[in-house]
Amino acid sequence: MTENGRDGRELVRVPAGELERTAAGIFAAAGCEADEAERIAVELVGANLAGHDSHGVVRVPFYVSLLRAGHVRAGRSVEIVTDGGAFALLDGQFGFGQTIAPQAVALGIERASRDGICVVALRNSGHVGRVGAYAETALAAGLISIHLVNVAGSPLVAPFGGVERRFSTAPFSVGVPLPDRPLVLDFATSLVAEGKVQVASFGGPALPSDALVEPDGSASSDPHTLYGEYGPTDMRTPGNGAGAIRAFGGHKGSGLALMCELLAGAFTGGGCAGPVDGPRGRISNGMLSIYLSPRHFGTQAEFEQVGREYVEWVLSTRPTEPGGEVLLPGEQEARTKAARLADGVPLPPAEWAAIQEVAAEVGAA
Ligand code: NAD
Repeated sequence: MTENGRDGRELVRVPAGELERTAAGIFAAAGCEADEAERIAVELVGANLAGHDSHGVVRVPFYVSLLRAGHVRAGRSVEIVTDGGAFALLDGQFGFGQTIAPQAVALGIERASRDGICVVALRNSGHVGRVGAYAETALAAGLISIHLVNVAGSPLVAPFGGVERRFSTAPFSVGVPLPDRPLVLDFATSLVAEGKVQVASFGGPALPSDALVEPDGSASSDPHTLYGEYGPTDMRTPGNGAGAIRAFGGHKGSGLALMCELLAGAFTGGGCAGPVDGPRGRISNGMLSIYLSPRHFGTQAEFEQVGREYVEWVLSTRPTEPGGEVLLPGEQEARTKAARLADGVPLPPAEWAAIQEVAAEVGAA
C-alpha cells in the first residue's frame, strides 16, 4: 500500500518491530540502559501505532538532544515526596517520562485495586508521551482513571481571546473499563498537539486552517508560525516562531487547559507552562491522576450494564451522512493500531531521514 505525504513524497512504511529496534538502538547509544532504551522505543512506537504520530518516533532526535543537554536524565526512579495512603505526591527527578510515568501509574493502580481509590500527583517527569497509554494500563486492571497533564516551562498555546502563548498543550485523558468496550478519551487541550505541527512541518498531514494564531490575531495552518525558519531535517524549535497554537473548543477548551495547568502544574508543585524563565526553567510534565475501582464502590454490575446499554444507544444514532458512523473514544486508535501492525508505520521520508541522521550521530547500530 502506498500513501503520499503533504509534500507529495511517498511515505516510508516501517514495520513496528524495526522502528522499535532502531529507536531503542539510538537511546542505548545515547546513554540509556538497554531496558530503558527499549521502554522509550516501545512507548514512542505505541503512539505511532495508535495513530498519534505527533507522540511517536518523530520525537527521537528531540529526546536525544534533551538527554545530551541534561534536561532529561536516564535511569531515574520516582521519589515519594508525600505518602497519604489513598494519595501520594511523587517527584519524577526529570527522568524519562516513559520510565517515570509507568512507575506512578503502577502505584496508583496497586493502591486503587486495594483500597478503591488513589490520587497520584506526579511532578518533574520527562515527557510522558501519549497519556492514553496510561489510561489503557489502568483499564487492563479494571480501573477508571482520569489524568490531567501539563508541561511546565512550555507555553505554546494562546488562551481563548488572546494571541500570546500562555498554556502548554496540557492533555487530558479518561479511561472507562466497560466490558468489551473499553473507552479511552485522550487529547491535547490545544487545537492540535504540538507534535502534529511538527509532523506537518515534515510533510505529514496538513493542519486545520485555524490551528495556529499569528501575533496579529489572524489564523494560520503554517508550521512556520510556530517554528520560524527551518531546513528539511532540522530539529523544530517552538521558541523560534512568533505565533501560537490555539486552544481547542473556544472558551471551554481554554478553561480546561487552565485547569490542567493549575492541577497538574501548580497543585503538584512542578510548575505551570510559564513564564519560561520561572523557578524551574526546565521543561517537564506534571500529571494529576485519579484511579477509581467500580468494584470497591459496589456499583460494578450497574456500571457495566447501564454503561454498556448507554454506549450502544449513543452509537445507534443516525449518522450525519449516509455511510457515516459515530465512534467511541479510543476506537480510532484501536483501528489504526490493527492496520499499522499489519502494514507498517507510515513515516514522511524527512522524518525517517532525521531519525537515521541521529542514529549515525550517536553511533547506533
Ligand atoms: P486527537 O485530536 O486526535 O483526539 C484524540 C481523541 O479523540 C481520542 O480519544 C480519540 O479516540 C478521539 N477521536 C478521534 N477521532 C474520533 C471520532 N471520529 N469520533 C469520536 N472520537 C474520536 O488527539 P490530540 O489532541 O492530537 O492528542 C494526541 C496525543 O498527544 C494524545 O495521546 C495526548 O495524550 C498527547 N499529548 C501529550 C502531551 C504531553 O505533554 N505528554 C501533550 C499534548 C498531547
